Amino acid sequence: MAAETALALAEALTAGTTTAAELVETALARAEAARPLGAFVHLRADAARAEAAASDARRAQGAARGSLDGIPVAIKDVMIHEGEPCTCASRILENFIAPYPGTAVARLQAAGAVVLGRTNMDEFAMGSSTEHSVYGPTRNPWDPSRTPGGSSGGSAAAVAAGVVPIAFGSDTGGSIRQPASLCGVVGMKPTYGRVSRYGLVAFASSLDQIGPFARTAADCALALEAVAGHDPADSTSLPEPAPRLRAALTGDVSGLVIGLPREFFDADGVEPAVLDRVREAVAELERGGAKTRAVSLPHARYAIATYYLIATAEASSNLARYDGVRFGRRAAADTLAAMYRRTRSEGFGPEVKRRILLGTYVLSAGYYDAYYRKAMKVRTLLRRDFEQALSGCDLLAGPTTPELAFRIGEKTGDPLRMYLSDIYTVSANLAGIPALSVPCGFSDGLPIGLQLLGRPLDEATLLRVADAYQRRSDWHLRAPDPATWAGPGR
Ligand code: GLN
Repeated sequence: MAAETALALAEALTAGTTTAAELVETALARAEAARPLGAFVHLRADAARAEAAASDARRAQGAARGSLDGIPVAIKDVMIHEGEPCTCASRILENFIAPYPGTAVARLQAAGAVVLGRTNMDEFAMGSSTEHSVYGPTRNPWDPSRTPGGSSGGSAAAVAAGVVPIAFGSDTGGSIRQPASLCGVVGMKPTYGRVSRYGLVAFASSLDQIGPFARTAADCALALEAVAGHDPADSTSLPEPAPRLRAALTGDVSGLVIGLPREFFDADGVEPAVLDRVREAVAELERGGAKTRAVSLPHARYAIATYYLIATAEASSNLARYDGVRFGRRAAADTLAAMYRRTRSEGFGPEVKRRILLGTYVLSAGYYDAYYRKAMKVRTLLRRDFEQALSGCDLLAGPTTPELAFRIGEKTGDPLRMYLSDIYTVSANLAGIPALSVPCGFSDGLPIGLQLLGRPLDEATLLRVADAYQRRSDWHLRAPDPATWAGPGR
């Protein structure tokens, strides 16, 4: 069955041709069919049914709350939801129950969305494949022998598999855009500070940002409108009110200038099919009246090194709080020091330990100036590159990720190769600018994404261009074949 968009479902709810109760049953049945993919770590069947019934009751009273009321959505297991588990796919948080509401989830509930469940991820959002999870890997709906990308792979797979029309993830260095690209859906990282981080478990606080996945840019606009906007509980939240994004989706791109960063089209280390499809997508936008211009991001070549210094430094500091005293799991031991050591040795997986070690190293006396401080300086240079490039154009375009969905196990033994998946995505986080990935074709049956990057707070232009592209293309109408999902051992 073709999966509908959230906007189509909202129309059907308004017209009375379906009910929220029906939508939640369909979503639960599809979640069951998609179980072999491992996209969810926790389904809220009873709670979701109760929320759907409440939504139907509101609507019957003429008190529906807006387009998301009664729509099933999924959230990544890194976003807290009061009174419910939040494990970040880590053993160290196996028993953790969120004691207060996180802003993004609270806003979704205020909008009437029905939270179907929590999605799988790389532990503490560290990874690019959703393999570093205590629950085991998530599989790509287009080819279950491959990864969905990561770290928000469960959310990307849940949308690609048609379980929910909208899911949320977090993007610190590409964790929304890269899995969106590899799963053939739209995924957006908003401007840093656009969506409150209150209730988002911290990985690298100066880079983390919550954002939506959906099959269409229009659904992403709907989803982002619901969660964006100032939140006094997050000191880094921007003062601007939630943007009106759907009004920007005119279908028209004429006169817009798209910058093509030379460094993003350098054929070195990129799958040729990726660059071909991206160039074709840009040509399609030109046929729609957009203009292109070559631009340069001279410091982009330092982005991966800069990101993996800053992100690990912040992670080592943020993850110090998991000490067995205040949060989650505590190992038994005779002394306090032994308790700390055992709790953290048993509680964290190998990739998280690697990040903590790297980050502690780059922050230590004697190395701080050489690594952390230098990375902060390069971050400023990179931000200026984007300011310069975006001063002469409305947005930038390029690939989202250099490759197609890779095989499960292919890169887990080689962290550096895994880190290179993020080569085109980390820059937007370092610069704080919004960026999205929109499906732009296939190669060998695997999806490819076009990345659009914009000026701070200009999510509207990115969504407008992505929506215009989707009106001119049909990649997002293709769906993976559920018959391929069940398999030996799954
Ligand atoms: N893949 C990147 C990393 O491993 C980005 C992760 C993310 O955006 N959360 O750090």
